Amino acid sequence: MADISVRHLVASYAAVVDTLFPTQCLVCGCDASALTHGMCRGCNEVITALCREPACPTCGQSVAAYEVSDGLCGECRHKKPRVDGTVRVGPYTTLTAPLVKAFKYQGQEDLLQFFGPRLVDEISKSPWFDQVEAIAIVPTHWRRLMRKPYYAPAVLAEYVSETCHLPLVSILRRTRCGPHQIGLSYTARFQNVHGAFALRSRVRLNKARILLIDDVKTTGATLDECARVLRRHGAAKVYAAVIAKVQASPGDMVKLLAV
Ligand SMILES: [Zn+2]
Ligand SMILES: [Zn+2]
Repeated sequence: MADISVRHLVASYAAVVDTLFPTQCLVCGCDASALTHGMCRGCNEVITALCREPACPTCGQSVAAYEVSDGLCGECRHKKPRVDGTVRVGPYTTLTAPLVKAFKYQGQEDLLQFFGPRLVDEISKSPWFDQVEAIAIVPTHWRRLMRKPYYAPAVLAEYVSETCHLPLVSILRRTRCGPHQIGLSYTARFQNVHGAFALRSRVRLNKARILLIDDVKTTGATLDECARVLRRHGAAKVYAAVIAKVQASPGDMVKLLAV
């Protein structure tokens, strides 16, 4: 009996230690002796290289540099997005997904130290950085915040605001708590967010240049709708910064999306 109790205690202790000091790489699951931002050295190197892939400066999709002309990839030339420029830390792929999810859903502070500085770096390298006057969060509905007070875009926006010395302003609100975007098709995502955002009362944009912060850009439907509202109320330019851009053609979106 005593033996069972001791074993139980040891197992419980090990579980607590694993939670507080994880020893498995978030990406490949290997047992590494040292983890940086939850990753083993190999995964860190692979993901750092992945994040250096060139991306379209307007939509943030990974594209070969030769595919971009006048700041637009083929998709942007076709669709004319409402967001004037997008930066991302990296593409959302099977490699980066575990990190993004751990930050988005578990709020791992260690991952803010991974994504935060990289996002600030991308923002400060962008051609529009000097023009930005304020930072705004892509808002969630207050009912969702009641259920889950941690909201990754808000944590990121605070980090960017403090580091870049730009004011964080509350100018948008979510008007309805419709179905989550997860699991919706490409077209349904655009329909689902249409009219889902409004400018807060007494806000005057007066040709402002706003940087929107979100965690993951999937189809771009949410950012596009926020930009539409901001522009309709007088914003001169709307830029976006996200930690990951889902790499997929519209057809693939249906299969993807656990984001
Ligand atoms: Zn690994
Ligand atoms: Zn593009």
